[in-house]
Amino acid sequence: MTTPFAVPELPHPRAHLTSPVTRGALSLQSGLLAAAREFLRDNGFTELLPPIIGPVTDPGNRGAKQVDIDYYGHRYKLMTSAILYKQASLLAFDKIFYVAPNVRLEPVETAGTGRHLTEFHQLDVEVAGASRDDILQLIEDLVRHMARHVVAEHTADLELLGRDPGAFTDLINSAFDRMSHATAVERLHDLGHGQSPDAELDWPGEALLSGKASRPFFVTDYPKGSRGFYDRESREDPGVLRNFDLIAPEGYGELCSGSERESDYARIVARIRETGENPAKYAWYLETAREGIPASSGFGIGLQRLTRYIAGLDAVWQATAFPKLVGTVSP
Ligand code: AMP
Ligand code: MG
Repeated sequence: MTTPFAVPELPHPRAHLTSPVTRGALSLQSGLLAAAREFLRDNGFTELLPPIIGPVTDPGNRGAKQVDIDYYGHRYKLMTSAILYKQASLLAFDKIFYVAPNVRLEPVETAGTGRHLTEFHQLDVEVAGASRDDILQLIEDLVRHMARHVVAEHTADLELLGRDPGAFTDLINSAFDRMSHATAVERLHDLGHGQSPDAELDWPGEALLSGKASRPFFVTDYPKGSRGFYDRESREDPGVLRNFDLIAPEGYGELCSGSERESDYARIVARIRETGENPAKYAWYLETAREGIPASSGFGIGLQRLTRYIAGLDAVWQATAFPKLVGTVSP
């Protein structure tokens, strides 16, 4: 795997697009997407096309800057994630998904993590009336279906990439483990890593836990303040969010984040205020919530991250036709 913080030099587009590794990775990614669409359609989901710009976007992402555009004299944003639209989309259908592009100007220190692009895509799923347990099971079934598809149908790509299909035996056959954020912090302390109990797992900590696993696993119950205002706070255990991450094994790190969502208007407003933001910014979303949005749970899987793990690639940019890395000028 890439040495942390060594910033890679991207190949020229022609060299990248004609490289067998790129072709293998993108072919595998296409198979993963086909399998996801098949699974979700068969389970009653409707695919919607995601918005790309809006007056506000997801504020909750680890120090990444948003990109503004001038929209007829109004300041609009490129989507950092489509979370607000996912919740609203449930007014039309109970089970929806998008394949959604996101743009985030990630902090410069992420340039060499092998896990960060400035432009990437999420498989974004939301289900009305679902609990966190329902959604964790859905993710496990979905990821298993995608991996099975690739192992059965993409043997040539896996071989070309030097990826042993045996890497997915545990994923295909065994339930995904779950541990709370508090337990993850404890384990990291035992391993000598100084993880803060009040924050998301830092990148080295996440890689450490990931490196010890043989199949993906869930970390649940992140502390309030570490994530967006839309993650529902536990009513029984205030300060703890009803959310989760899915972490890949073998050191590949986070694949997916999700949660039960807050759908209570007054609580959403209070949570926005707590983050120091002005609720007036979120006018369209709050007006929609005031009249009622369904309670829901959902998640977003980073598609380049998932492809990187399944393909066994050194870095996430290799799972992208036109990679954009922090601080690098590229097509
Ligand atoms: P987040 O809302 O930050 O949890 O992002 C959702 C998912 O998108 C993550 O679990 C990752 O799989 C993926 N992701 C987030 N940021 C990036 C990035 N900068 N580059 C590539 N994938 C990302
Ligand atoms: Mg996340």
